[in-house]
Amino acid sequence: MSDPINAIRGMNDILPEQTGIWQQLEAVLRETLASYGYDEIRMPVVEKTQLFARSIGASTDIIEKEMYTFNDRNDESLSLRPEGTAGCVRAGIQHGLLYNQEQRLWYMGPLFRYERPQKGRYRQFHQMGAEVFGIAGPDIDAELILMTARIWKKLGIDHLIRLEINSLGSADARNNYRAVLVDYFTEHKDQLDEDSIRRLTANPLRILDSKNPTMQELIENAPRLSEHLDEESAEHFSALCKRLDSAGIEYKINARLVRGLDYYNRTVFEWITDSLGAQGAVCGGGRYDALVEQLGGKSTPAVGFAMGLERLVSLLVDLDQENLKKPDIQLYLARMGEKAEIKALLIAEDLRNIFPGLKILTHCGTGNFKKQLKKADKSGAKLCLILGDDELSENKVTVKFLREQREQQQIAINQLSQWLADENIQN
Ligand code: ATP
Ligand code: MG
Repeated sequence: MSDPINAIRGMNDILPEQTGIWQQLEAVLRETLASYGYDEIRMPVVEKTQLFARSIGASTDIIEKEMYTFNDRNDESLSLRPEGTAGCVRAGIQHGLLYNQEQRLWYMGPLFRYERPQKGRYRQFHQMGAEVFGIAGPDIDAELILMTARIWKKLGIDHLIRLEINSLGSADARNNYRAVLVDYFTEHKDQLDEDSIRRLTANPLRILDSKNPTMQELIENAPRLSEHLDEESAEHFSALCKRLDSAGIEYKINARLVRGLDYYNRTVFEWITDSLGAQGAVCGGGRYDALVEQLGGKSTPAVGFAMGLERLVSLLVDLDQENLKKPDIQLYLARMGEKAEIKALLIAEDLRNIFPGLKILTHCGTGNFKKQLKKADKSGAKLCLILGDDELSENKVTVKFLREQREQQQIAINQLSQWLADENIQN
């Protein structure tokens, strides 16, 4: 035997025992997004490196150290997408979706970041993201937040997640604030870590996003952006708060919330849980009114969010949500002999025509009835239909109840579907 080849570190297989919960989660997301009138868009997972460099910001963690970048055979620099917004904006501009119109879009799929793998942090992970183009007011910011709140409720995890919001103001306001921040951190340069010293000149706002515990007090005491907001952004922010208040959405204003990407302005928000240890952010978003123009389109207001599906799955698994479990097999068909095998195949096909949602497993391969019954039991099936020589000669099947104390019965094959319907087999 030769050595097996394993998956790449931080890139996980999602195994059958977990795909059920993924499918349920995805179904809730699709259904909710559709109910708000959002349309799906699908982008490639690889883009020109330049697209990300131009949008996410040169001195962000993502661009500095997390991108999977390579030259293709034509020597063009390409990158696996580390986030979805840039590609979505690129697609919107390229296909004329953004020009003088409103778009409410969503996407779902894998992202790639070269981070240190740990629980809730992987090198390939998945997000569902929503992006809205062409609407400038706080009404749409509120809609996005209400939509995510509804998703948590539907998933039964709303009691585990809290909302933090902030405003980053306009580019001018941020520039003024930047100067104030540089003064402050320069005064305390001896307390800065290596990354932050570098960022002091390149991108001082990023220092506020640092997760380094030894710098938290310094960051806590830093001057606040809210004291330097421009009037319009302040109005936008208070209008958003008012809408959240009227909808009964609880939130905390976190003056230090800056998010890890450079393109944000005005509203930023994050949904956080305390149930997943250090990897507490389950969804983040905000406005990025300058990005469309920055990527070559006509200036278009925009706002969006992305949620991390692995972290949501983790929450759901921990809660052991019964309603999110994959439904069990309902029928197992056991048979003996070639004639019965063929008949069983046809019976199963007929039943699938009549009950499209019914989960039927037909026994394939060899094995005596005892073995087949064992498999039937292991499959989780409620009933086992048995077809042997005796049954075949009488045009009947034997029904064995696997989850109930009931005598086995014989049912005429031509009455089987009616009998199953009477037994409420699908519930
Ligand atoms: P974090 O603060 O945990 O690094 P982030 O701010 O980098 O998160 P975003 O870029 O806002 O994350 O992405 C949105 C969501 O995607 C996050 O809230 C998180 O749930 C998820 N996410 C981000 N990076 C990873 C990762 N490496 N592995 C798994 N999920 C991730
Ligand atoms: Mg990150």
